[in-house]
Amino acid sequence: MLDAPSPNDLAPFWMPFTANRQFKSAPRMLTGAKGMHYTTQDGRQVIDGTAGLWCCNAGHGDPRIVKAIQDQAAELDYAPAFQMGHPKAFELASRLATMMPGDLDHVFFTNSGSESVDTALKIALAYHRANGEASRTRLIGRERGYHGVGFGGISVGGIVNNRRFFGSLLAGVDHMRHTHLPEQNAFSRGQPEHGAELADDLERLVALHGGETIAAVIVEPMAGSTGVLMPPKGYLERLRAICDKHGILLIFDEVITGFGRLGSSFACEHFGVQPDIVTTAKGLTSGTVPMGAVMVRKHIYDAFMHGPETAIELFHGYTYSAHPLACNAALATLDVYRDDQLFERSAEMAPYWEEAVHSLKGLPHVIDLRNMGLIAGIELEPIPGQPTKRAFEAFLKCYEKGVMTRTTGDIIALSPPLIIEKSHIDQIFETIADVLKTID
Ligand code: PMP
Repeated sequence: MLDAPSPNDLAPFWMPFTANRQFKSAPRMLTGAKGMHYTTQDGRQVIDGTAGLWCCNAGHGDPRIVKAIQDQAAELDYAPAFQMGHPKAFELASRLATMMPGDLDHVFFTNSGSESVDTALKIALAYHRANGEASRTRLIGRERGYHGVGFGGISVGGIVNNRRFFGSLLAGVDHMRHTHLPEQNAFSRGQPEHGAELADDLERLVALHGGETIAAVIVEPMAGSTGVLMPPKGYLERLRAICDKHGILLIFDEVITGFGRLGSSFACEHFGVQPDIVTTAKGLTSGTVPMGAVMVRKHIYDAFMHGPETAIELFHGYTYSAHPLACNAALATLDVYRDDQLFERSAEMAPYWEEAVHSLKGLPHVIDLRNMGLIAGIELEPIPGQPTKRAFEAFLKCYEKGVMTRTTGDIIALSPPLIIEKSHIDQIFETIADVLKTID
């Protein structure tokens, strides 16, 4: 066991999205992980109810993925991605292209979800320009959308605290209404019944700005970070139809929903709605090595391919785009998903998961429960004047009792590794139930 660090050792690391002073007064340190469990610095086993940050879909420490990373580091540690290539990058792009529905068959590699989002927005803008429609410069996001923390992502995103400290953000961005209708849809299982008509909010923005000025709409098909909000039945289909009518590109941010989370490979497949661009990250490498990927439809890629053959078509990229370690980690991860049939497993476990989620109905503080595939949101009634406090207390108590959850506002979010067993599901929900009975 490692010695606990002194508070001075903790000072230099400015932790992301963390109450630093609070954390450093009582740190929660993880020192190991295997399968469904984290090991804490004080030697406890904590069941991972959140797949890290919605990313470790294959569980922790899978030897096949570990070996792929080790082997790659020894063989080719780095290769420039500009004007040079390495075979694993092309292999991975081909694998992803075959996994994606429809003609989403070109892949641009990034290192994170935020980079995937900024890349997708830039591709959308440059596409219209390449296509002779340079007037399409406006981007549309949605309230309660989370699209990472780049300037593009926080501009189209709809979380107040992610936006308000950082100046005026991108110009020419507007937002549709969110789709959360607690009064009509509370305690829905899967997709809620009410709210398809909220997609018509895009027509309002088209009427306001002119459809010919709008480049793209970006939404999470299921909003994760703002509380696990399922799309109402018919909503995504309607959004697709409105985009088609006005020549607007539809971007699905599948950073959370990609790679099996909802019980199919991608949400676009799950819901049967074809986006023009899909952003991914997280589950692509099961969280082992940072990597993201943006998949685009054929006509988008083709629009860039008309100039002289020697010209660079898209002025965009990262030093670590298609990093060899990330590519090999992703290839091994995709093998694990396929060989262990983890997306199928996610679908098979979903009914048991759903029952477990809804077994919390009637417990103290619970005002809504939402689920799909292997994801869930447990919404608690906020303490008046002290938003987020109750859920955070639940998070702390669950952690003490050996279950890692995540909170966003007054919502406890769960998204376990897809290798989860029924006994783990029982343990997670029994612990949460106990905790809900004991917190104020
Ligand atoms: N988009 C969505 C939908 C996300 O959930 C996230 C991360 N939670 C991001 C983008 C940003 O990803 P990253 O933190 O890897 O930049």
